[in-house]
Amino acid sequence: MAVLSIAPATLLRFGNLSFSIRGKFVALAVGIALFASLAIGGVGYMRVVDISLDREVATLEGQARLVVPQIKAAYDLLRSDALIVSQTPPFKGLARSMPNGDVDPRDGSTTEDWRRRLATIFTSVMAYHPEFVQMRYIGIADGGRELVRVDRRGEQTYVTPLQGLQRKGEESYFTEGVRLNVNEVYFSPITLNRDYGRIDHNLPVVRIVVPAFAPNGQLFGLLVINAHYEKFLRGILNEIHPDGDTYLLNDTGDYISKSSDGKVSALQFRGLAEGASPPATIRTLHTATTFDTTVFHKLDNEKVAIHVTKIALTGSGGARFLKIALVVPEVKLLAEAWDTRQSFAMAGALLVVFALLLALVSARAISQPLRQIVDEIRAFGGGRTTLNLPSNRADEIGELSVAFENMIQRLEVSNKAKREAFERLEAMRDEAVDALITTDINGTVLQFNKSAEKLFGHATADILEKNVSVLIPESHGRQHNGYLAKYRETGERDVRDEVRIVDGLRRDGSTFPAELRVSDIRVGSERFFNGIVRDISARIEMEKKIDGYVGELERSNRDLDDFAYIASHDLKEPLRGISNHVRFLQEDYEDLLGEGGKKRADRIRQLCQKADKLTTDLLEWSRLGRTAYQFEEIDTKEIVQTIIESLSEFLQEKKATVQIVEPLPTVKGDRARLSSVFQNLIVNGVKYNDSADKRIEIGFLTGQPAPDGGQADVFYVRDNGIGIAAEFHDTVFTIFKRLNSEKTFGAGTGAGLSFVKKIVERHGGRIWIVSKPGEGTTFYFSLKGSENAHS
Ligand code: ADP
Repeated sequence: MAVLSIAPATLLRFGNLSFSIRGKFVALAVGIALFASLAIGGVGYMRVVDISLDREVATLEGQARLVVPQIKAAYDLLRSDALIVSQTPPFKGLARSMPNGDVDPRDGSTTEDWRRRLATIFTSVMAYHPEFVQMRYIGIADGGRELVRVDRRGEQTYVTPLQGLQRKGEESYFTEGVRLNVNEVYFSPITLNRDYGRIDHNLPVVRIVVPAFAPNGQLFGLLVINAHYEKFLRGILNEIHPDGDTYLLNDTGDYISKSSDGKVSALQFRGLAEGASPPATIRTLHTATTFDTTVFHKLDNEKVAIHVTKIALTGSGGARFLKIALVVPEVKLLAEAWDTRQSFAMAGALLVVFALLLALVSARAISQPLRQIVDEIRAFGGGRTTLNLPSNRADEIGELSVAFENMIQRLEVSNKAKREAFERLEAMRDEAVDALITTDINGTVLQFNKSAEKLFGHATADILEKNVSVLIPESHGRQHNGYLAKYRETGERDVRDEVRIVDGLRRDGSTFPAELRVSDIRVGSERFFNGIVRDISARIEMEKKIDGYVGELERSNRDLDDFAYIASHDLKEPLRGISNHVRFLQEDYEDLLGEGGKKRADRIRQLCQKADKLTTDLLEWSRLGRTAYQFEEIDTKEIVQTIIESLSEFLQEKKATVQIVEPLPTVKGDRARLSSVFQNLIVNGVKYNDSADKRIEIGFLTGQPAPDGGQADVFYVRDNGIGIAAEFHDTVFTIFKRLNSEKTFGAGTGAGLSFVKKIVERHGGRIWIVSKPGEGTTFYFSLKGSENAHS
């Protein structure tokens, strides 16, 4: 059976992954195609723009080279026509006839004849110069009186009769004209036409003035032609056909233009005057200072190429000029480039579509096996037992499938091991002697083993999902919940990892004392409490009994001490009485006793003394058990040194040395009693010693092995004396126990070591012996205060 379980979230992610790989792949392909099209199209387009602009600019400049001479030629034609007219015979004829009584001395023609002939010439010239509105011959004499004048009115020309002729000597073109030399032509500024003092606002005119000289070389008159300026310029513009717009602007701010579609605008007279609003091109033309090159300008939000030329109108006094602008919008210049761009865009779009299709097809080829893997794993996770992955493929998909299969095999093996381990654990839980209870962090019971069932009398099924407080008497239960709440909030370990003595509540309502150990378990992010409960009713019962025995023992020891005290105290009196009476007997009945009786009496008195000594020791021994001790901080080194000093004579006499192995600690104890311990042990070490060189060593050791198998911090008193056989190591501490005869090692009551033992025990310590006969003896003793001793 399949044990593997995959969380739905993981499958969902796999689902998205499949889609997303496909989507990403397509997006990438389209992105690359788009980028490539933009890059190639962009670079190509820029290059085409450069080439187109260069070519178009060259074309524009070529047109300028054509147009400008055409305009110049129009002016030159005007000038040459005026000069030709001024060379016609009537000009000289009038110069001859008028000073000669109106008769030409050369051929007899009258002034009137010459006038008529000139009017005819003027009329015929005006016929092929439709822009000429007036032609006049003005004499220098008589304040510049007109000699011949022909006007155009509508389609007709009129010759002004004699009486209609006026004086024009005040006019500026007259004063300019009289300064001219032979063959010089003057072009006036553009002004509105004036006729008999009236200004014709619709008729801006240019006046062309040519001087006429008499045969004697004197200036005789001026040929003045009024040309309709607008018509003149229109005539020029109609003859030229550049690609772009053409603008003409003269020095007095009059301008006219022709658009690329061939339409010519109306002449703007004084178009730059204040208040006028000339187009941007005219403003640019007005301020232009560089000529004969093409520049790019942004005019009215449109980028244009503009080529400006300036023509000086020679023979016009020097100030007259005409600026010509040929303007082509960039849109037009780049029309071809834009066509190319269009083609690039089309090609790019095709490339993108092709990439999209290709990507869709290949993405499907990649994502389909992935999809199959996802579907298979999902089915497997859903409980199907077979897993059919495309692991025989030779690509990464095959590798992925093999890796999946391997992983699933490993997972199955590990899950099996886990399941078995879990089952073993469950069995162990059930077999455990102690009751095992697992709760969640709120105290809800999750596990309850067989021992727990037995101990609490609840069936597992009844207790699961209930709060653990049902196993605890009311008062404890509340406390327990308090701990849990506190732990949840603060994470403080009140209930965990320590043994507590609590009361357990059985199903029948009875309670029992229990030992409870709670440990905190974390599984992933979840926390649990595991409680081990042990019924300690029997142990408590046993402890109670032991406590009773100890109490009894203490009481009997006290009784013993009391008895010894009373007995020794009360025995002293009769002993002293016996001794005294024996002494009286000796003194009063010396003769009757004889030698034998005296000896016996002495022996009785010696025994009385010994009995007295023994009762004194017994009294002291009982006191050591009954009286209170004065506990204080004691420097043990200091008390040992004091003892050595007080024993110095004894030591010298016995040829013994006492060595302190430092450091000796400071302990809490009864100064007098502890001094007596050290003194007894030192004296014994010297006393029961047959070495020539008697050596006693006193020191302190930590972690020394004790007779009960534990360790203790101990004082030791070591000698190189006769040693003590192992069978006496305990009994030697019994009161009045002696191992040696008085003769060999001197007198003693055999109480000293019993005092030592009693004092050590009242200090909470123990005393023991390490010794072999003939190898010296070491007494070790601990004190309660010496267990935490420091030097
Ligand atoms: P006393 O010295 O009065 O006999 P103790 O109680 O001091 O009484 O000693 C009891 C007996 O233990 C001694 O008689 C002696 O035989 C033996 N004893 C005590 N100390 C030593 C020792 N350091 N080496 C050998 N034997 C000892």
